[in-house]
Amino acid sequence: MSKTILITGTSSGIGKATALHFAAQGWNVIATMRQPEKEQELIRHKNILVTTLDVQQPATINAAIQQGIAHFGHIDVLVNNAGYGEFGIFESTAREQVSTQFEVNVIGVMDTIRAILPHFRERKAGTILNISSGAGRFTLPLISLYCASKFALEGFSEALAFELAALNITVKIIEPGGTTTNFGKVSGDRFIANASIPDYDPFAAAAGKMFDSLSNMQLATAEEVAAVIYEAATDGTDTLRYAVGNEDFKQRLASRHTMPDQEYINAIKNSYLKFL
Ligand code: NAP
Repeated sequence: MSKTILITGTSSGIGKATALHFAAQGWNVIATMRQPEKEQELIRHKNILVTTLDVQQPATINAAIQQGIAHFGHIDVLVNNAGYGEFGIFESTAREQVSTQFEVNVIGVMDTIRAILPHFRERKAGTILNISSGAGRFTLPLISLYCASKFALEGFSEALAFELAALNITVKIIEPGGTTTNFGKVSGDRFIANASIPDYDPFAAAAGKMFDSLSNMQLATAEEVAAVIYEAATDGTDTLRYAVGNEDFKQRLASRHTMPDQEYINAIKNSYLKFL
């Protein structure tokens, strides 16, 4: 029997690449997105069901799960991928922007998991893959809200893994580094849209240059991330975390745990203070 995966945020980037990757491996795919009427590519595949799911609208989450089960019979794997970065100076962000960042990156994930758990419990099996980020494990300047949301996702996922393991449901976390998708433009546009506060200008300019130097590093492709998501879904282990990116990124991720806090903070400060 073919396996079935439900993925959120498949209109572009990692979500779309993951839908195509699993479909190419013979899986049934429930490819969900906010505006399925705009999708041109995924609808051409017989084993991909394209349907509506907006993680900010719980009714659409339930409807997508029920539609997917009615179409393919069951769901084996859920990938919580939908997300974005509210980048900018914290003081210039409104309360509503903070709520929306958490609604999409954290509460939407929780709502989707809560909605699928009765199905996984009934089947006595299931795998949940949450797409976090390097920013869920280490901090960088100018992205405090995004870091806060992904740190929350990491803590939630790690703790949830214990209670669901008892039910033969596995929770895993995927941690991509910089990846070539729409993410950079979406978060960059939000950064520009957030009002500037002149007192922060020298810091913001220096930190911006630090980001420019990072973004010149080799980025992963969405297809590379999709291949690691496939590995996580099929390797039969209960490995919790999967990092995806170049060696420099993986080392930075690993060193956050071996390096004393102050050493990490000083290293990051030095990397932007040199531009001041
Ligand atoms: P992307 O190309 O911008 O894709 C983001 C997806 O999330 C889009 O399909 C978008 O749909 C969807 N989305 C946003 N808000 C949503 C909502 N309320 N309900 C449902 N879907 C929503 O960026 P991506 O890089 O593939 O991002 C996917 C995940 O990877 C995110 O969780 C991101 O934080 C994470 N990540 C990305 C990078 C990177 O450098 N690219 C690095 C680490 C982690 P619309 O088209 O409707 O907006």
